[in-house]
Amino acid sequence: MIGPKAFPAGAQSMRVALSAIAMLGACGASQGSAGSPPAVPATVQTAQPAPSALAEPAAGAIGGVQYRGRLTQGGWIRGTAPKGTQLVSLGGTTLPLAPDGTFFAAFDRDAPASLVLAVTAASGFSLSTELAVAPRSWRIESVNVAKRPGKLPDAEFKARREAELARIGAARARESDAEGWRQTMLWPAAGRISGEFGAQRIYRGEPGAYHAGIDLAAPQGAEIRAPADGVVTLAASAAPFTLEGHLLILDHGMGLTSAFLHCSDLVVQEGDTVMQGQLIGHVGMTGRATGPHLHWALTWRGRRLDPRLFASPSR
Ligand SMILES: [Zn+2]
Repeated sequence: MIGPKAFPAGAQSMRVALSAIAMLGACGASQGSAGSPPAVPATVQTAQPAPSALAEPAAGAIGGVQYRGRLTQGGWIRGTAPKGTQLVSLGGTTLPLAPDGTFFAAFDRDAPASLVLAVTAASGFSLSTELAVAPRSWRIESVNVAKRPGKLPDAEFKARREAELARIGAARARESDAEGWRQTMLWPAAGRISGEFGAQRIYRGEPGAYHAGIDLAAPQGAEIRAPADGVVTLAASAAPFTLEGHLLILDHGMGLTSAFLHCSDLVVQEGDTVMQGQLIGHVGMTGRATGPHLHWALTWRGRRLDPRLFASPSR
């Protein structure tokens, strides 16, 4: 379990490290079921959203552009633009069009309540509409303990972490022509959800980092399968990363990526193309984890997404 840490002024590299921890969505608010559970401080208040709060798939159209998706925080849209469409943008971000006119976009956990979807048609005529993004109520625990200061990492950790962050940054920057972004995802492992996306602890009024992935409780050695087609952009096979352990990152194309943390081992290598459902590794508790589980995180161009909104409901 990764707790928030305080660093002295000037510890620039550690601030970078913290942002990357958040980027990969280290397990903070909750954890897998196995192993010794983390000490849970006295809970003052808990807000638990009902699963039914998730937005149902919705569809719409503007100027010949059709789209459908889960229009809520952590969700996504996919759409098609007529041949010759000059530009499609969402919230000011230009969306690349595939050769068949298909595009993809997704909504951050903290996305605003509406974003402008703008289209410039082949004729040069422009149209725009406000796309409503339904807010979510996240599981927030207010705990009556101070943020743990944590012990300052030693020089060796710092040096290793910088190298790891460089690899993660390079992996995120790589874009493949994978087409997994077009698919409804499969759950990468069987097992109950032991940690929800978006959950957050407030330590005496001071917010901790939210949980940027979903935890699936699965036994050591359980299979991990690719949720969608992709290209392996990072496989920490030889040496586990200090926090993520044996980490695997898949690029699904169009800026959509999956990360799998704490694996016991990986069976694919960097550069491999994987198909949806292909075995990619096994569940473990490498890196900073209190028990075997799979932490699965999805991102789209820096936005953090809820895997529950991408995978088919049947598990
Ligand atoms: Zn987690």
